Amino acid sequence: MVLNEICSLKENRSPLQLTTLPNPFPKEKEILVKISACGVCHTELDEIEGRTPPPQLPVVLGHQVVGTVKDTGLNANRYKAGERVGIAWIYSACGHCDFCQQGEENLCEAFQATGRDANGGYAEYMTVPEDFAYKIPDVFTDSQAAPLLCAGAIGYRSLRLANIKDGQNLGLTGFGASAHLVLKMVNYRHSDAKVFVFARSEKERDFALELGAVWAGNTEDKAPEMLDAIIDTTPAWKPVVEALNNLRPGGRLVINAIRKEDRDKDYLMKLDYPEHLWMEKEIKSVANVARKDVSEFIKLAAEIPIIPEIEEYPLESANEALLELKERKIRGAKVLKIV
Ligand SMILES: [Zn+2]
Ligand SMILES: [Zn+2]
Repeated sequence: MVLNEICSLKENRSPLQLTTLPNPFPKEKEILVKISACGVCHTELDEIEGRTPPPQLPVVLGHQVVGTVKDTGLNANRYKAGERVGIAWIYSACGHCDFCQQGEENLCEAFQATGRDANGGYAEYMTVPEDFAYKIPDVFTDSQAAPLLCAGAIGYRSLRLANIKDGQNLGLTGFGASAHLVLKMVNYRHSDAKVFVFARSEKERDFALELGAVWAGNTEDKAPEMLDAIIDTTPAWKPVVEALNNLRPGGRLVINAIRKEDRDKDYLMKLDYPEHLWMEKEIKSVANVARKDVSEFIKLAAEIPIIPEIEEYPLESANEALLELKERKIRGAKVLKIV
């Protein structure tokens, strides 16, 4: 399923076209992967609509990829044919800048993203540098493993940046694929931390309570207690302002979004310095993922285990899955099944 041009999903409800491409060939230190599942992520909407546009078109989107190694390039020795691997948003980084050397390769200037800067997983085959593929534990099916690679890994990173401690209160504003995995992680790692969820849709709020949130309300509701940290996974601005209002002094808001949409940007005019920011409140964004986030999270997810709630679609229904994501018809994580 190929993206040929940047467009608005309002005007073009089928931005991706089913196309036959030649099989890619693994270069030195690369592997060829036969794809069986690929998660659908909100970032694909940002790519299609041009908020984080692919540098070259056409491109194959998709960065939560699970499949088996089909072939190996010259000097690629990490995996054997037939082994199951996963591929995440980080496709490659330079490997020698200060960021890369400190394990902060997600901030590398040469950071390349799967399914944006290189062809991704909405396809039957893709190639990837072998050092940027991960072994998938047996406890997961292919479709269950897919959303762990982005929603889970970036959720893990955002939880780390939120710096939540036992007994503290964590807020989640927005309750899609990433947030529901964060909630499962918190339940396991900090069983006495309380999670408060803000979501516009009643379905999402009910889902959050089912999974163990102590409270769920609408975006502009005031939580019954002040919160130590809040993770925002929405594409909008209203949740940012409203979240700051729920933070305790010294609290931190972590924005886990690659881009924000402009639709409600004027809501920022409601930002009131003493109410929302003073008392040493912090705002921090999450950018990309490092390999460490992906591999540590997959290990943790297998240990807990975190089995994500998924909805499967055939590859050729990718447009439908993306539109449902845009219209927030969400329960768990959407996954394309490639046969
Ligand atoms: Zn993603
Ligand atoms: Zn680098």
